[in-house]
Amino acid sequence: MNMKRVLPVLLFLVTVVLAFGTVAEFDTPVIKEWTQTETNDKGEEEVVDYMTIDGIMVHETDPAKQPQPPVVQPGTESTQDTPGQAPSDAIVLFDGKDLSNWTSTTPGEASKWLVKDYAMSPTKDSGMIQTKQEFGSCQLHLEFATPKTPEGEGQGRGNSGVFLMGQYEIQILDSYENTTYPDGQAGALYGRKKPLVNASRKPGEWQTYDIIFHRPVFEGDVVVKRATFTVLHNGVLIHDHYELSGGTGWRGSHSITNYIPHGDKGPLQLQDHGNPVLFRNIWIRELAD
Ligand code: MG
Repeated sequence: MNMKRVLPVLLFLVTVVLAFGTVAEFDTPVIKEWTQTETNDKGEEEVVDYMTIDGIMVHETDPAKQPQPPVVQPGTESTQDTPGQAPSDAIVLFDGKDLSNWTSTTPGEASKWLVKDYAMSPTKDSGMIQTKQEFGSCQLHLEFATPKTPEGEGQGRGNSGVFLMGQYEIQILDSYENTTYPDGQAGALYGRKKPLVNASRKPGEWQTYDIIFHRPVFEGDVVVKRATFTVLHNGVLIHDHYELSGGTGWRGSHSITNYIPHGDKGPLQLQDHGNPVLFRNIWIRELAD
């Protein structure tokens, strides 16, 4: 056989094997299968197939081996006039009554945000607020309304933002017939990823974000597992399990940070960007990483 012909083929095969070796990086379940001869209801003998996945039998009914999922009383949907209710296992961060779960991001300062008509909003020079409790991976629901009478344009219209772990901003902006750079419009992972679509409602109308966030994991200074975001804006998917390429911190007019190592938990923050954006019905459910 001509070695000059064989070598490229061999090299190609080695490349394919290596490529598949690197692609197939997922958890492989331990599967065991067997058959048993059993007597059925009619007294007949039959061969029954059994399978375990990671040691648990498929269709296991013994709660000691396969516990039932916890029961959760679902919440209610909001309307434009009335905020909905959180699911029974959620931590309610703001129910329209007070700011008891929140504080200023300036150490030692009380929050100057205003609570009125079951909503809260920043006041002039009030600064950002953050939750007293810290969170990592989570499901977060929040509702906001940008000012009914729009003022300014681009980033200057109805600007706020929700920062997960005090780090990762999902932009809040009046993006209804208001154009700005796509990675800074409503729903953008600020500076990193534009939303899949613009699902903004009109100024003054209540809007929802439902966010499923998995925190990044660091080993020393190195990120070994990136953060992921799934986000629905007004019920419309705008981020589909997106793996965030880095941090969203503002560094300059055309530059944002890369990942900066931080702890396993951090506060949820709401931005004061000089526009009186309203917030209501904020709740969170902690998730396993
Ligand atoms: Mg913002």
